Amino acid sequence: MENSVVMKFGGSSVETIEKMQKIAKRIIKKKETFKNVVVVVSAMGKTTNQLLEMAKQAAKYPSKREIDLLISTGEQVSIALLTMILNENDFEAVALTGFQAGIKTGGLHTKNKILDIDTTNIEKHLNQGKIAVVAGFQGLNDAGDITTLGRGGSDTTAVAIAAKLGCSAEIYTDVDGIYGVDPRLYPNAKKLDIISYEEMKEMAFLGAKVMEPRSIEIGHRYQVPIYVQSSIHEIEGTLIKEYTKVEEKSVTGLSISEKVMMVTIKNYPSYATDIAKLFIALAENEVNVDMISQTPTEIGFINLSFTAGADDLEAVDEVIEHIMSQYQNVEAVKNINVVKVSVVGTGMRTQSGVAAQLFKLLADNGIDFMLVTTSEISISYTIDKKLMKRAVEVISEKFGL
Ligand code: ADP
Ligand code: ASP
Ligand code: MG
Repeated sequence: MENSVVMKFGGSSVETIEKMQKIAKRIIKKKETFKNVVVVVSAMGKTTNQLLEMAKQAAKYPSKREIDLLISTGEQVSIALLTMILNENDFEAVALTGFQAGIKTGGLHTKNKILDIDTTNIEKHLNQGKIAVVAGFQGLNDAGDITTLGRGGSDTTAVAIAAKLGCSAEIYTDVDGIYGVDPRLYPNAKKLDIISYEEMKEMAFLGAKVMEPRSIEIGHRYQVPIYVQSSIHEIEGTLIKEYTKVEEKSVTGLSISEKVMMVTIKNYPSYATDIAKLFIALAENEVNVDMISQTPTEIGFINLSFTAGADDLEAVDEVIEHIMSQYQNVEAVKNINVVKVSVVGTGMRTQSGVAAQLFKLLADNGIDFMLVTTSEISISYTIDKKLMKRAVEVISEKFGL
């Protein structure tokens, strides 16, 4: 659709009615420039966390279908209130749930994916001159059940709608843009004017929660320009787009993932069939295994370490219990006091020695690491949580982030 834009406001930007009134002003101003304005909103403040907490109180193992039903209500509160505010200001607006906005999902409850969007209803309202206010983070699956897109999923809703309408997505949040490293962890961090989809995707997957990783994947696939900026200050933000730097720095950003758990299984049989059995059991329990390393101990046995998301603790416990009942002498040690620190940069493709520089830097600063993995454009280390602040400081200083 010609002359369209998608604006997305995150939880902290719609935390109170007062904040909604402020963003309503920005939306109204946008409507002066764009004929078609679609607004995507998240749940107010920490609503999603509070709802999840209530589910935990209601049941030890709450059903995922009902968790989705519960947490999708957060965004519905926001769209209704924001629409009332826009209408109150004499601007015609309509609140649409994920279903009403034509968002079709498929996959697992609470970790769902957008399959397609039928924008007929959104377009109908836009053509009538209304501002369409769409609930982020939710859709409807083939079975007619409400599903959610995983934490931070409103970004994905916004970028997917922008892809479908062929316009750009403006992400309004509580930071002024994308920084080389989370400014809450390193206050001297520098804001980036521009970042490529590829680097942003890697940073997001490795823990930079400013953007949900899948939203960048969709943005990349459909070449949606994504502009991240402050919902409070009207200053330049960061543009995410296809882009090749003229002169590349080896490292563009540093991501931290704090919700990590490391598991070491000692005296495990080294045969491929046994190792496969463990990882199949983890996969069947929906545990997303990330880093893996193994070291031989005596003939036929290994110590095997892997990391997974801290949220998967219960699922991992179940698998370990099952495994330990099958093998003698197997011991399992879980460590939740770890974080994953990752440096990202497409410059690593052409510039060698980044790993060496990092190893030396960590060694010089007494920062021991446990597991290391690399991709073409990133290097990740797991370290003790207590060393995180120091690691962020020395790496950011060294690479000028
Ligand atoms: P929203 O509620 O608007 O979706 P989020 O809390 O999901 O906002 O994301 C914004 C937060 O992301 C910031 O407050 C910041 O602490 C964090 N963040 C992590 N990494 C970065 C980074 N590299 N640049 C900017 N912010 C980052
Ligand atoms: N409200 C959801 C969450 O807290 C989705 C979002 O904010 O993007 O994860
Ligand atoms: Mg977010």
